[in-house]
Amino acid sequence: MIIPKERQLTPEEEAELKSITGEFGIDLQKIHGETRSIYAMLGDERDALLIKRIEGLEYIDRVDTIMRPYKLMAKDSELANHRVRVNGVEIGNGRFTVVAGHCTIDPKNPNAFYETAAAVKEAGGDVLRGGVWKPRTSPHSFQGDHKSMDILIEARERTGLPVDTEVMDAAQLEVALEARVDMLQIGARNALNYGLLKEIGRRIKGRPTTVLLKRSMHMGKIDEFILAAEYIVAGGNPNIVLTPRGTVPTMDGFRNHPDESITILLKERTWAPVLVDPSHSVGKASYVPFAALAAAAYGADGLIVEAHVDPRHGIGDDPKQAVTPDVLAKLIRDARAIHEMQRGHVEHLVALA
Ligand code: PEP
Ligand code: MN
Repeated sequence: MIIPKERQLTPEEEAELKSITGEFGIDLQKIHGETRSIYAMLGDERDALLIKRIEGLEYIDRVDTIMRPYKLMAKDSELANHRVRVNGVEIGNGRFTVVAGHCTIDPKNPNAFYETAAAVKEAGGDVLRGGVWKPRTSPHSFQGDHKSMDILIEARERTGLPVDTEVMDAAQLEVALEARVDMLQIGARNALNYGLLKEIGRRIKGRPTTVLLKRSMHMGKIDEFILAAEYIVAGGNPNIVLTPRGTVPTMDGFRNHPDESITILLKERTWAPVLVDPSHSVGKASYVPFAALAAAAYGADGLIVEAHVDPRHGIGDDPKQAVTPDVLAKLIRDARAIHEMQRGHVEHLVALA
């Protein structure tokens, strides 16, 4: 739908508009509105170049695309009935899935990770997280250690839990695929790295691998997030999970600006399950249960939470934001109860969308 700035376009403006849409094989239908005439595009109006050309005309206010810019992630796409699983564990579809574990695996202290892994299982967690490679603001900070991959895989052996770790480049991706990591995490810093998103989509095609895509701290529009997921799914593997984790802070107090509320907007637009990350959002262990329960109230399909048996002796984010196993166990119980309570509201929302 094309919305002009003024009540009417001049015949010359209308002719120019028609010639542009004609180049893309699209006819224009003029609709006389109450306050101004608007133009419906008949045909596939999703061509990004077409929209940019029209938006560039000085007499046009905006273009509203009726169809979503994404084809695969849309709720009415043929993928809508796809069930996302991580090594057999279903995510979404009524279940509340919890991924938990260390921000960063300490290669000097594998036992701490094995103890946390057992505690995550005991607390009711479904997937074990452990950072092997870490995106750090300073190049002088600990960047992770590939030896930690062996620790992660050993913890999977011991607990039987599927494992999640972040990959930041193609070389790490290959190591993680070789180790058969169940869930690949794309971090907030790489959620806009389209080259990496495409490469991951290409490499996981035909594999059982699932991708957990964090929302970039710099993303604004909800569709920008969904389109990043579309890049991965376009490679051919639709095992994708969307993870709000807070955006750049606009106030003091929290590490990021909490964004668990966008869960309902995602649920209206896409079929993909939403696992909220309260840890990076609020950035402090004592705040995490509040954000986690809020996420459940907003209809999340689960959580990814940093947890540690001994946070004070952890590394990376663990000393400040990892919850202890007892807090994790209560948080999981409470979040599952809220999730159950909210099911009716979520179903109603989705039915209206
Ligand atoms: C993490 O999960 O430890 C992490 C670095 O997350 P994010 O990419 O959301 O900052
Ligand atoms: Mn972290």
